[in-house]
Amino acid sequence: MALTRGNCFICGATVSKTAIKNHILKNHNDGDERCILIKAEGAYDKNYWLYFSVSLDATLSAADAFLRRIWCECCGHLSAFRRGVDELGKSRKLSLLYIGDILQYEYDFGSTTEILVTVVDNLSRPAQKEKVRLLARNVPALEKCVKCGAPATQIHAWEGGMFCDKCASNAKNNEAFLPIVNSPRCGECGYTGEYDKWTFDPSGPFPQPAAAPAKGRRKKLVSPDE
Ligand SMILES: [Zn+2]
Ligand SMILES: [Zn+2]
Ligand SMILES: [Zn+2]
Repeated sequence: MALTRGNCFICGATVSKTAIKNHILKNHNDGDERCILIKAEGAYDKNYWLYFSVSLDATLSAADAFLRRIWCECCGHLSAFRRGVDELGKSRKLSLLYIGDILQYEYDFGSTTEILVTVVDNLSRPAQKEKVRLLARNVPALEKCVKCGAPATQIHAWEGGMFCDKCASNAKNNEAFLPIVNSPRCGECGYTGEYDKWTFDPSGPFPQPAAAPAKGRRKKLVSPDE
């Protein structure tokens, strides 16, 4: 399956997963604040992916809070970052990692969601208030109902099949359905995506590129009678 495309949250462009890194580094590397570009993706389903920037003083704890809100949080489970076999303390600053480092992030040690977090590059951005800012995210996949082929909206938490609302309400054990959400934790535990406020809005607002210099005022047409 081809990797999903994504939305650039800075300019609104739709960009393939393979091109998004260069898109950000080339077009959006233009501010006074030095920060770090980070990629997160599902460890097993890499069609779920995010690019975000973190300030130089951001810790793993800030990245943890962000990943919980956008992708993971259901019942306050434990989480951890590891690099190889070492667990990293959450007070560690992301700026102390190396470009190219890949961390494993785990949320919930029972019904675990595993995420790979890659330190991509340095980036300059206009000053950001938040320690973590979303820059790009995969477009949600369109799933089809296993019964009727209509767009699926719910996933069965025990069996995994995806259903439309109508077929879900007619299914056995229909108390086990969860909403289909744009996250590698979709269908796990009681995850519903309730804290994910980062849905892409194609109408923006996106900051406009610097305006072209205004052309000279057009001369008023003078009618031949005057
Ligand atoms: Zn862009
Ligand atoms: Zn849970
Ligand atoms: Zn259906």
